[in-house]
Amino acid sequence: MTILAPTLTKEELVEADREYVIHSWSKQGGLNARPIAGAAGSWFWDYDGNRILDFQSQLVNSNLGHQHPRLVEAIKEQADRLCYIGPNFAEESRSLLAKKLAEITPGDLKMSFFTTGGAAANENAIRLARHVTGRSKIVARYRSYHGATAGALALTGDPRHWHSGASMPDVVRMLDPYTYRCPAGHPSPCPVCSGGPHLEEILQFENPETVAAVILEPVTGTNGLIYPGENYLRSIREVCDKYGIILIFDEVMAGFGRTGELFACNHWDVTPDILITAKGLNSGYVPLGAMTVSAKISEWLMENKFWGGQTYAGHPLACASAVASLDIMEDEGIVANAKTQGERLGAGLAQLAEHHPSIGDIRGRGLFYGLELVKNRETREALVPFNAVGAAAAPMQELNKAAMAKGLYLSSNFNVMRLTPPLVIKDDEIDLALEILDDVLDLADRHYEG
Ligand code: PLP
Repeated sequence: MTILAPTLTKEELVEADREYVIHSWSKQGGLNARPIAGAAGSWFWDYDGNRILDFQSQLVNSNLGHQHPRLVEAIKEQADRLCYIGPNFAEESRSLLAKKLAEITPGDLKMSFFTTGGAAANENAIRLARHVTGRSKIVARYRSYHGATAGALALTGDPRHWHSGASMPDVVRMLDPYTYRCPAGHPSPCPVCSGGPHLEEILQFENPETVAAVILEPVTGTNGLIYPGENYLRSIREVCDKYGIILIFDEVMAGFGRTGELFACNHWDVTPDILITAKGLNSGYVPLGAMTVSAKISEWLMENKFWGGQTYAGHPLACASAVASLDIMEDEGIVANAKTQGERLGAGLAQLAEHHPSIGDIRGRGLFYGLELVKNRETREALVPFNAVGAAAAPMQELNKAAMAKGLYLSSNFNVMRLTPPLVIKDDEIDLALEILDDVLDLADRHYEG
């Protein structure tokens, strides 16, 4: 496939970007966003021809890598057929995608509503859960991100919700099963890390009959790559069932093969009442999110109005790209590759931990890994504190910068480095990333005090 060069010169691009583009979550002055000229597979490159291995899959969404020829072709084909028709009509790509999701999502999940991304899908899930139950409280966790619209940001527990002015009445917080730094001091059996007992206690105080839903990321993404213990999701499911509470799994980041299973919740064989997906659904080629609901909620929707809509709900270009993306995943064994390459990555990281004392914890399955960096393995003092900014954040920033200079794109949240390459990554690319990591982790080791 020919990859076209950009039309602007580097200077024109930089000028237009600096003057006119507002970038996410940043002070705009002094940003200096790197001008990117193109991308293919697991790589992207700048205007000076520097090639960078995308070990982030951009925002953990380019699961099929960049410019996958079949995916690009499917979008072109849909554009030739029908670019847009309103969501009130039946349209081929939308129906095909909804049917396909009913087939591949776990349990009896059935009908889908399509949005333009994860946040909008979460908004719809909150509203629907409130309508279905006639209750209003939503339990959400602290170490979480659910999107940047008002309701989704109000559910979000990480510091991004502090400054947003976003608040929504009736959000109740729950602690996280962060066993490496257990919020309950990890008594045995720990009520927080085992899930159900902690939720049950919160419900006692809140009155379960006022709680519409519990929303959580089965594997926490941005906020630290936190994997729950074996029974956690099941025990949360049981408590929700006991009180008629809707369980929403936000798999915007973890879904579609990222963890080496098609859906993260498949690892524990637990099905939510509402599954939220986006990102890997179509590898981000066209903005898309989905809310897929259980057979029971689908039945409810047959009798009751769905109070939600968007001009671009179920946009044909987005839906066609998702149908193609799911076909490609099957044809190219993408989930299996995520599992195999994840094992290679995990083994490599374990070796790195043998001579990099700053590696405190390695958490991951498939290609959804977090490397928790510490100053001391005994005390587990974090390499940089929670919500570190400025000089306090420098040790992590130095690391990402050094990796980038060597052609490896990494990202981190506080002291946890995310390792989330495209699911099409190959052996030699994993090995190259490990080599570069080995080099740059020396920088973190310099701060080690153990
Ligand atoms: N939920 C989770 C778990 C996410 O990681 C994200 C984005 O990173 C979102 C929701 C929001 O999705 P979007 O940015 O598409 O609105």
